[in-house]
Amino acid sequence: MKAIRRFSVTAVLPEPLRPLRELAFNLRWSWHPDTRELLRSVDPDGWRRSGADPVRLLATVTADRLAALAADRGFVRRLQVAAGDLRDYLTEPRWYQRAEGELPRSIAYFSPEFGITAALPQYSGGLGILAGDHLKAASDLGVPVIGVGLLYRHGYFRQTLDADGWQCERYPVLDPRELPLTELTGAEGTPVRVTLALPGGRTLAARVWRAEVGRVPLLLLDSAVDGNAPAERDVTDRLYGGGSEHRLLQEMLLGIGGVRALRAYCRITGHPEPEVFHMNEGHAGFLGPERIRELDALGIGFDAAARMVRAGTVFTTHTPVPAGIDRFPEELVARHLGPGGELDTLDSAALLALGREPDAPEPGHQAQFNMAVLGLRTAQRANGVSTLHGAVARDMFAGLWPGFDPDEVPITTVTNGVHAPTWTADALTRVEDPARLTDAELWEVRRGLRETLVHEVRARLRDSWRQRGAGESELGWIEDVLDPDVLTLGFARRVPSYKRLTLMLRDPQRFKALLLDPERPIQVVVAGKAHPADEGGKRLIQELVRFSDDPEVRHRIVYLPDYGMAMARGLYAGCDVWLNNPLRPLEACGTSGMKSALNGGLNLSVRDGWWDEWCDPDFGWEIPTADGLSGGDPERRDAVEAAALYRLLEEQVAPCFYARGRGRWLEMVRATLGRLGPKVLAERMVREYVTGLYAPAARAHRAMDAAAAADLAAYAARLQREWPNVAVGHVETGEEPPVLGGALPLRAGILLGELEPAEVEVQAITGTVDESDQLLNAEPVTLKPDGGPDLEGHWTYTADLPLRHPGPFGYTVRVLPSHPLLAGAAELGLVALPAGDLATEETGILLR
Ligand SMILES: *Cc1c(COP(=O)(O)O)cnc(C)c1O
Repeated sequence: MKAIRRFSVTAVLPEPLRPLRELAFNLRWSWHPDTRELLRSVDPDGWRRSGADPVRLLATVTADRLAALAADRGFVRRLQVAAGDLRDYLTEPRWYQRAEGELPRSIAYFSPEFGITAALPQYSGGLGILAGDHLKAASDLGVPVIGVGLLYRHGYFRQTLDADGWQCERYPVLDPRELPLTELTGAEGTPVRVTLALPGGRTLAARVWRAEVGRVPLLLLDSAVDGNAPAERDVTDRLYGGGSEHRLLQEMLLGIGGVRALRAYCRITGHPEPEVFHMNEGHAGFLGPERIRELDALGIGFDAAARMVRAGTVFTTHTPVPAGIDRFPEELVARHLGPGGELDTLDSAALLALGREPDAPEPGHQAQFNMAVLGLRTAQRANGVSTLHGAVARDMFAGLWPGFDPDEVPITTVTNGVHAPTWTADALTRVEDPARLTDAELWEVRRGLRETLVHEVRARLRDSWRQRGAGESELGWIEDVLDPDVLTLGFARRVPSYKRLTLMLRDPQRFKALLLDPERPIQVVVAGKAHPADEGGKRLIQELVRFSDDPEVRHRIVYLPDYGMAMARGLYAGCDVWLNNPLRPLEACGTSGMKSALNGGLNLSVRDGWWDEWCDPDFGWEIPTADGLSGGDPERRDAVEAAALYRLLEEQVAPCFYARGRGRWLEMVRATLGRLGPKVLAERMVREYVTGLYAPAARAHRAMDAAAAADLAAYAARLQREWPNVAVGHVETGEEPPVLGGALPLRAGILLGELEPAEVEVQAITGTVDESDQLLNAEPVTLKPDGGPDLEGHWTYTADLPLRHPGPFGYTVRVLPSHPLLAGAAELGLVALPAGDLATEETGILLR
């Protein structure tokens, strides 16, 4: 029989066990082994049945068991200690409270998904896990972040396989009352409702759920409320809704509704209003226009409001390909934002311009409203997620800053990191200092992790085969799947084609030989979900499943369905080598290899994402890439890169693992734990966000009051107007031949139109030049105003250009905006260059 309703947890907990509720509802248990162990001990079987979910566990534990625990003085004492520890953790000063400098009082962090624990399945992959790790590290550091996202009724899908190895999807319904959430309520317990106006007089209402991520509150908006029409109820039905309008409504709810939820939260709790807003990818981009609307409603005006909003906003881009960005037909956005819809008090032309792409649409195509462009236009600070991705992003968005070289595009880098307490195996956390272990002990710890994984793999594989329709009597072979003493490779990730799930199958005979080598075999564990609409990805999974179904190799290679956080942790810990073979440079950062490294796993990876900056022969192996090869023939590229992968496995990885004594292998494990581990941490990442982006954004936000913003907006408007009249008129250098170590006197005549010299900066860019007159290692030198204007309107500017390098030398002169409230010279996207562009000193520099 099915219950129509469950009891709420607090109603059934006896008095001495009350603190269990606090411990279960604060998600810190998910990264605090002692708390987790205490919660598990409430009912170890129930813990397993609940899938390690304390809220579910408490809802099902029997009254007898609770009574016995309440009478167990040992348990009650341990419970009090744990509750006290949590309270200390929530209140004591941490890194942020001791950090120097002018720091924001509060930071809002918006993301379309959050992967915090398997018990709150609100993520699909890397972006969400990163957001979860960001909140946890912020909590550990005491950074006052508030998370904002959506609560999806079905989360992401659960993956199973059919008998043919084809991916099937299930979308179990999540009941928020069974999740670690509490509803945000106002005075007298009335639930908070956020509402958005939709075209045709419809309204979209949402309630707000609150999760506690250690010290960090996370607000999740949920449109499944009474009063919403069915279509509006379904706005938050699943992650990344299909269809433009569904997706647009999700993003409006996240960005616009999210700001409104945040305002309600601050009003109710007295929490300080955020000074900095951080968008994790473009999906939350509408938070900018909503805040412009708030300020505009105070009579500030669109342009000044936009300047104020920009000052306190940070945008992180995660995709290196234009196809990965959310774009909506401009007319769809115009229908929803503007007269008859949301934000109707704003100038709709100005609003649409914020998301307009710099290139005109191709003939026959509609103009698109681009969420990343919106993010970049509404955030004064932006970053990519690895050094390589930062460079790719500067290139990709260079069109928004015409006249500037890609390396001047104002997008910096903060390399992603991972939350060590979440991703480090308990067996390793318990080791006080892995560096002090003897070789034999370290080998044994790693072997133990591998063995645990082997058992987990067998259990999951058995479940999967039952689901695929196999009978118990057919599954005896599963007891021999994987071997705790065999070199173990892991590959688990979503299955977009660029990640090349099946690269390892490129030459099946060669791969089989590796798996079945009598002396030095390898075994492989693979997992990953394809997007439900991605037939190509599902075919790749099927190809891999069929390969691993073969009785000849099925004891050495396994595909596990339903990759998620619950599986991931054991997988990262138990694999000796983490394989990553994307098409470079399409992996913006990648984080699974970092999680493997935290557990002493070695990386075997293409030089993409984070591995491009931190790869080192002590941490693993670099799979050579063939990006530049044979005119970009993808087949040939795959063949070359797969061959390189096989060779590395045959000649280096396997011999190293199986070498007698294993000295080199363990040296690498130690180097990975000791030197790579500290770099890949989410704490390092969050500290970089605080010092490099949040603190400057907070300072800019404080400096940008309404008067300053009006001044800056007027300045920007005047510059836009006058810029066509700004020009580099003439440039002269001294007569003497240039000499290394000397200086070249430079004089330029600059036309400024109606602008004053103090409103611009005139620079010479100097450097060596290549055959095509491109400036290399360019260096700016600021020119000083030296009188004017002459009769033709030229202002004179001068400088001495230092001559530091022998050989061909060149320079150009340019005029840039200059205003103390601009974050950088490229910010307004305005630059005036000489008509002839670059001047080269043909003689080169003479050596003394
Ligand atoms: C870390 C993680 C990811 C992201 O891994 P990538 O290497 O960035 O592809 C995806 N899913 C889960 C469950 C993870 O834990």
